[in-house]
Order: sequence, then C-alpha cells, then structure tokens
Amino acid sequence: MQLADSHAHIYLEQFDEDQEDVIARAQEAAIHKIYMPNIDHTSIDRMLETAAKYPGYCIPMMGLHPCSVDKKFEKELYIVEEWLSKSDQFVAVGEIGTDLYWDKTFFDQQKEAFRIQCDLAIKHDFPIVIHCRESLDENIELVEEFGGKGLRGVFHCFSGTIEQAKKIIDLGFYLGIGGVATFKNGGLVELLPEIPLESIVLETDSPYLAPTPLRGKRNEPSFITHVAEKIAHAKDQDIEKIGEIATRNTATLFKGH
Ligand SMILES: [Zn+2]
Repeated sequence: MQLADSHAHIYLEQFDEDQEDVIARAQEAAIHKIYMPNIDHTSIDRMLETAAKYPGYCIPMMGLHPCSVDKKFEKELYIVEEWLSKSDQFVAVGEIGTDLYWDKTFFDQQKEAFRIQCDLAIKHDFPIVIHCRESLDENIELVEEFGGKGLRGVFHCFSGTIEQAKKIIDLGFYLGIGGVATFKNGGLVELLPEIPLESIVLETDSPYLAPTPLRGKRNEPSFITHVAEKIAHAKDQDIEKIGEIATRNTATLFKGH
C-alpha cells in the first residue's frame, strides 16, 4: 500500500527535536509523499530546509495562510509571488483561504488575499489548498467567482455538511479528510458513506488535529493510517483500496509531483 499525506506542516518547530524519526515513521507507515503548505514569510526558510533535506519526499507549496493576513498582507503576497516566479519547486498555492474563528477583523483582506492567490494559481497552473474555518460557504462562493477559469484544488480539513461536500465536488475540487473524520463529535463520520472516494485526499495537518485514539497529541504523518482505517470502515472497504484511490487522487491533484 502507498499513502500520501496531502497536508502536513512537518517543518514547524514542533518537529525540531525528532524530525528524522517522524519521517522514518512516515516511511514505515507506507507514506510515499508529504506535501507541505506554507504559512507566511516566517515559515518559508524552515519549509525549504525540510524540502532540501528530503527531496521528492517532502514537497513544498507557496502561499499565505489566512491567519497571517493583516494590514500588511500585500507585502506578504509580494513575497509569495516572488517565490512562485523564481523557483520551480512548488506544486501548489497554499495554504490560502479565510478563517473567522479567531478574528473577523481582516475578513475583507483575507478575501482579497485569497482572490489574488487564486489568480497566481491560475497563472502558474497550480492547484490551491484551501483553509477555511467557520467560513466554508464564504470560501465556496469565492471559488465560484473563478468558475470557468480553470481553478482547481482541495478544501483541506473538510468538516462541512453533505450539501457543502456536494457543492465542492461539483466545482471539481477535492475534500481533504483528516483527523476530524475520527472524532466522535466531528460530524464527518456520518457523511463518509455518501462522499465518493474519487473526491477525497488524505491529510493529517500535522502537528495539529491528531486523530482518535491519539487526539490531543502532536500529530504526525504516520498517524494518517487511523484516518484511512476510519474511512475504510465507513465505506466497508479494505484500507488498501482507500489508500490506493486517495493516493491516486493526491497525485492527480498535484499533477504527479
Ligand atoms: Zn495547514
């Protein structure tokens, strides 16, 4: 079996002590690729160091996270744009989106940053990796604004309703399924039987959102097997089948990188 972690911040300081062990465990868990979303200008060096240490295995994206959007977001976007133009190592624009959970002050700026980064993704022919919290409908609407322009990507850490899932699938986007699928109160378990396997990719969002039974711990890519198992159970299929389809989807999403 081959698995891919489509979303892991494996370069953050939470992994400074034991990153090599974490990667070794990921490899033992049949993970053949880990995709790394950027956060903002402070995370780029760390992310690229990890990418250089594990070439072809830890694969970087470039983008500005909505929680890092404030008054100075244009300066941050300039850095994103510059990196996308001068380097060919990125495979997606991410993570981008909106987040109304912590703070609504910069919602307009978040939307503006999202639109600008969607244009960058179209220009560079990259998928986008979308973060949304308490703002799924708003993000779906934003993506709809780009209808017919070839925008594609994934709604990472999907935790919405079946109606929202269907809208996303109709837009041709993937649903990133992670630890929330294993949470009793996550609301996702009930939806899994209705979500087509062709539309899902697996992710951990490490170091966040560790799946049950490791909930609350630092998450790491090898824990993705708990997510795959949960989906296999909900779909009444083998874990190998889930892994095979989700990994194929991930390769399609990131154009084989
Ligand atoms: Zn993330």
